[in-house]
Amino acid sequence: MHTLAYGTQEKSASLSPVQFTRQPVRAGEVEIEITHCGVCHSDLHQARDDWSNTVYPCVPGHEIIGKVTRVGDGVSKFSEGETVGVGCMVNSCQACEACRRGEEQYCSGPKSCTLTYNGPKIPDGTNTYGGYATGITVREEFVLNIPDAISPAEAAPILCAGVTTYSPMKHWNLQKGQSLGVAGIGGLGHMAVQIGKALGASVTALTTSADKSDLARELGADTVIVMSDETALKDGARSLDMLIDTIPYAHDITPYIKLMKPGGVIALVGNFIEMPAFVPADLVFHRLTLAGSLIGGITDTAEVLELCAEHGIRPQIELIDMDGINEAFKRMEGEDVRFRHVIDMSSLKSRRDELTPEASEIAAPNRGDVTG
Ligand SMILES: [Zn+2]
Ligand SMILES: [Zn+2]
Repeated sequence: MHTLAYGTQEKSASLSPVQFTRQPVRAGEVEIEITHCGVCHSDLHQARDDWSNTVYPCVPGHEIIGKVTRVGDGVSKFSEGETVGVGCMVNSCQACEACRRGEEQYCSGPKSCTLTYNGPKIPDGTNTYGGYATGITVREEFVLNIPDAISPAEAAPILCAGVTTYSPMKHWNLQKGQSLGVAGIGGLGHMAVQIGKALGASVTALTTSADKSDLARELGADTVIVMSDETALKDGARSLDMLIDTIPYAHDITPYIKLMKPGGVIALVGNFIEMPAFVPADLVFHRLTLAGSLIGGITDTAEVLELCAEHGIRPQIELIDMDGINEAFKRMEGEDVRFRHVIDMSSLKSRRDELTPEASEIAAPNRGDVTG
């Protein structure tokens, strides 16, 4: 499948048109024409090599919605023309304990799970390319049904932002009537507020931008604390059972720790790199758990799609054309995004003929074969 995409070949470059060939669909695989792709903060981090693990060329995008155009032999769950989704992973060993539990993101197979883009953990000259593209081919275990109630554009962000915040709430067993804090009211946070409410929690939004207060309340937050407001922080001390910290950069966690009730759980989901130091006594004296959680498995992703369909939870999106991606990245860096950009991929398809001669040819991707 000849595929047009937007990618980058080095960390300091902006994204530009690239083209490559995805191999023909094989047994057990689903070929998808991409109609929409959400823009996640990870896409920006990965394109710029902020986590020092990017393999170039890099074609980001892991909130993929599209239509099935072909299925390989043996595919039973999907058929041509259906609207489907692909999230952050395209392969895993399917045999280890984590995979058998439906937590493929923690696959302990020899090569762990294969991410939708920048996938290989062991550099072997190949790479996976994500959803800023006209099409993708994925094995059926990693393809998701999209409930009819959710529009394709609105479904896209649920595949990463939705499941990344739902999964820790499920794992640490957020109960009806408990109090949930959500730190950072951006792409992940605005989903976390709505999902927390749907699960019956009382939700406190924690933001550094006072101008997000009204928006957080509109999303359902019962309480909003602006982190520069010392009085509000004092009043909110020891009030939270669980905190989902979605802030996508290094930040001082101490003010958040002080908001936790004894026995509370803080789940970091947004930042992977070194954080400023904190005093362990703040954890020890209140038996707090400081934890991390990575995206979510396929089972959780299917569950959160259903939960969103049932409870009318929708991401707030702004549709952009593919060539608006560099501007979107710039706005994301300036935190000027409410809340999720979603690329309308027809904007890339319609430019296919015009683009092809200009687009740099890049090596064909693998399809997660490295995990096999
Ligand atoms: Zn993401
Ligand atoms: Zn596994």
